[in-house]
Amino acid sequence: MNNRKTVKDYIRTIVDFPHEGILFRDVTTLFADARGFRMAVDQMLHPYAGQRIDKVVGLEARGFILGGAVAHQLGTGFVPVRKKGKLPGTVISEEYQLEYGEAVVELHDDAITPGETVLLVDDLLATGGTAEAGIKLVERLGGEIVGCAFVIDLPDLGGRKRLEAMGMDVHALCA
Ligand code: 5GP
Repeated sequence: MNNRKTVKDYIRTIVDFPHEGILFRDVTTLFADARGFRMAVDQMLHPYAGQRIDKVVGLEARGFILGGAVAHQLGTGFVPVRKKGKLPGTVISEEYQLEYGEAVVELHDDAITPGETVLLVDDLLATGGTAEAGIKLVERLGGEIVGCAFVIDLPDLGGRKRLEAMGMDVHALCA
């Protein structure tokens, strides 16, 4: 029975988190399960087998957990995109819109070398605002995004269309 479980089966939904009316997809239950976590990481890599990937870029915070494992498996370096004020070195910044207000994400300005190929990783794609900001940061440093890999895509929120309109290759394991 356990062998037939899919990645989606390991993800739970928490009602009214962080606000009333929100159904939060909780991936900690996926990460906590040895088989589920390995399955997710392997499936995220699969579409990119045989392609040159120089760096994995993970989006704070759950993108660090997945991205670190993906980078280890690919034998590449890992680079974090962090929320404003967290990275110690010289950074470049991108502002993006949230449902209420704005957010800023940052990348060390020497984290990507021009011409490097990058796989962008996060746990969930909703409106695509976070991923778009990450893509812009990588591209500003001359990196080339090979693909954007997510565990969950919430298609009704338009993120996939938004990223595909930027010319991105988008892969998600479940909706
Ligand atoms: P977007 O920028 O695409 O609207 O939102 C995606 C970002 O918000 C991701 O970094 C993701 O981690 C986080 N996020 C938004 N909703 C959820 C959710 O229901 N579950 C999880 N795990 N992350 C979420």
